[in-house]
Amino acid sequence: MDSTEFRKRGMEMVEYICNYLETLSERRVTPSVEPGYLRHLLPTEAPQEPEDWDQIMSDVEDKIMPGVTHWQHPRFHAYFPAGNSFPSILGDMLGDGIGCIGFSWAASPACTELETIVLDWLGKAIGLPDHFLALKEGSTGGGVIQTSASECVLVTMLAARAQALKRLKSQHPFVEEGHLLSKLMAYCSKEAHSCVEKAAMICFVKLRILEPDEDASLRGQTIYEAMEEDELQGLVPFFVSTTLGTTGSCAFDNLPEIGKQLQRFPGVWLHVDAAYAGNSFICPELKPLLKGIEYADSFNTNPNKWLLTNFDCSTLWVRDRIRLTSALVVDPLYLKHGYSDAAIDYRHWGVPLSRRFRSLKLWFVLRSYGISGLQHYIRHHIKLAKRFEELVLKDKRFEICNQVK
Ligand code: PLP
Repeated sequence: MDSTEFRKRGMEMVEYICNYLETLSERRVTPSVEPGYLRHLLPTEAPQEPEDWDQIMSDVEDKIMPGVTHWQHPRFHAYFPAGNSFPSILGDMLGDGIGCIGFSWAASPACTELETIVLDWLGKAIGLPDHFLALKEGSTGGGVIQTSASECVLVTMLAARAQALKRLKSQHPFVEEGHLLSKLMAYCSKEAHSCVEKAAMICFVKLRILEPDEDASLRGQTIYEAMEEDELQGLVPFFVSTTLGTTGSCAFDNLPEIGKQLQRFPGVWLHVDAAYAGNSFICPELKPLLKGIEYADSFNTNPNKWLLTNFDCSTLWVRDRIRLTSALVVDPLYLKHGYSDAAIDYRHWGVPLSRRFRSLKLWFVLRSYGISGLQHYIRHHIKLAKRFEELVLKDKRFEICNQVK
């Protein structure tokens, strides 16, 4: 395919996408297929010779679409919302066209710098404290785009683990690291997303899953008692993952209480997972739900869930970027560059080396809608949720399981 044909096919694809989205409500939300359905429709081997584009696209409609679950469908209410919008799609399209791999500042300066700026924009709009903003005078923190909330939880747990091991090693220089690792204990609520459990598995640390209160909110006293009990057993609390907007019922852990209790355990990393609800804090009237954020070491939210940005775009901010990267830096000669000391190299902020130009789509969304447009969008969803609550309350067959916040 050369650029002349791409121009033609690209326009056709935009047309196809527009038609798809405009007529989506006429399709079934979930496909009626059995596992393995596609294997019966496609050849067992890749084609030896090039195929005609029209044939490929006709297979998309006839073979792929019947097996697609339509997450953008107006009647799709499963899991969580999958953000999307035309500016976001255009941002991904441009990023894919540029095709840079922005693992360091030198690998593509605009890719790195736009990410830093856009994360500061969004962090300010959400109401994060200044120490989370990279470009604020005197700040040691900053934001980064990860692929998913699970990755945000994993990298912060890795950073916390590295800090804890360093501290223990200095206190017990002759004890083997494997033994020190076996003492580390992380904490979360029973209502936390399963990604915390997965992160603990990967980090090879113990995880204590705590009982929340009757509103599905983890309380400060519960955390305090668990950590004190564990310390008496010779264990070392090092990481707490709290949730603002849980997956099951959008409950909020009591961050102010937890933050205050953690002051008694210096060195314990406090993470806030607000994968879904965190986006709503761009509305001033919802910022009270973010109370206690001043105690946090890190915070994540997914614009790809509830801020009109398509997957993947999971934003993570940390209070101290050196503490984050100290767990993740490997610095081979072939990746060094002349500005290594003066610029951010995002390869040190996550697991993969290669990174897409994801900040483009978030930049497009923030500029196309403006903060006021995004607030309007969130408020509309909240109004719908309240309306749904009213309907459920009127229907004896259902009950409301938690406060509708
Ligand atoms: N954390 C919370 C609170 C969630 O609701 C979810 C997804 O539902 C996740 C984490 C996992 O998100 P991701 O798919 O981005 O890893």
